Amino acid sequence: MKAILLLCLALLSPITAAELRVSTGFDGGSATIEAIDSAKREIRIRPGGDPARGWACWWFVRIEGLGAGEQATLVLHGSERTTRNNGQDTGKPLSQDWAMPIAAAVSDDGKTWRQTGLGTRGTDRISYPLEGTGGPLWVAWGPPFTPRETDALIAEATQARPDLVHPFTLAETREGRSVRALRIAAAGDAKTKPAVWIHARQHAWESGSSWVARGFVDWLFSDAAEAKGLREQAEIVIVPIMDVDRVVTGDGGKEAAPHDHNRDWSDTPHYPEVAGAQQRMKAYAAEGRLAVFLDLHNPASRDLRPFFFVGPPELLSDTARANRERFLSLAAGHLTGPLALDPKPRVTGANYHPLWRRISGQWVNDHGNEHTLAACLETSWNTRHSTTDGYRTVGRQLGEALAAYLAPPAP
Ligand SMILES: [Zn+2]
Repeated sequence: MKAILLLCLALLSPITAAELRVSTGFDGGSATIEAIDSAKREIRIRPGGDPARGWACWWFVRIEGLGAGEQATLVLHGSERTTRNNGQDTGKPLSQDWAMPIAAAVSDDGKTWRQTGLGTRGTDRISYPLEGTGGPLWVAWGPPFTPRETDALIAEATQARPDLVHPFTLAETREGRSVRALRIAAAGDAKTKPAVWIHARQHAWESGSSWVARGFVDWLFSDAAEAKGLREQAEIVIVPIMDVDRVVTGDGGKEAAPHDHNRDWSDTPHYPEVAGAQQRMKAYAAEGRLAVFLDLHNPASRDLRPFFFVGPPELLSDTARANRERFLSLAAGHLTGPLALDPKPRVTGANYHPLWRRISGQWVNDHGNEHTLAACLETSWNTRHSTTDGYRTVGRQLGEALAAYLAPPAP
């Protein structure tokens, strides 16, 4: 009897374990699928990005065949393809650290994201624990944010405040996609209000930066008195995704050929969305009201606290230098956690990158007004708080810091 039972189990187990299937055929999807072991419940992948389209650290898959409560493992290896850095092929793959957060993002519907348990790191891999729900499971490097999320953000904001929100298309990309954005301004605004420009995803893989932008917008339309003050007092532009092309194709963007978006801020930009942003910011500057430019990014794996990158202080006017110090101090007072700001900014310059003058913040310093504040916020992605909620909290706190910065002096 016992022998028969064991035989039955042995025969049954490969049959009861449903075949696992992995796909990437959707916006942002990316992986090279190395092996699917349905019996062992193990899937092995690498990031699927083309290094000519940026660092191959982003990955995003959909898994089917996992039963409710069933355990499985997603084993991730680094990309084997040689990567570009400082504008050249290095002949070596990218450090795998960029692709391996301590926990992956996971979702049952591709929209609402949570973290997996902590991954187990080996020398050439990390293994993330998965638990099935009976339906498909989406698993990614971090919470994805694609043009679908931009559309949702614009639709919600427009519905909440049709009087204030003006959606527009910043540009059509080189590959024919729309770069959508929101402008927030009260009807009949005189062209005197301070203009604030915030964009994310000049580097496509840095999905957390779009969630920071989303958190800022959610806060801006909240009932908070500071939010109300800011939306009445300033004209604000938000571009949740700059490099729409590489976000959609699941490529990294950073160090793409011929250069990436944040090395494109010259007089002759390669990317139409960079040209569009320059044109609009120049118009604000011509009206003397380009007050704030914020460029949102995610940093390196070991940067466990958010921080600001700024240009060399000696290139700023006295006014701009004082403004920047005041803003950075307000930001340190508001970005208090759980992702707490490192109050010490990092300064970019010639030793940071050969094309440092073509970084967006430097372009804004060179083309803005005497009082313009330009800074790049790097929000940590490799922590337990690097979730949609954690990123959105940073966005809210950034909004509070901006409101304090732009608030009129007390009478
Ligand atoms: Zn970046």
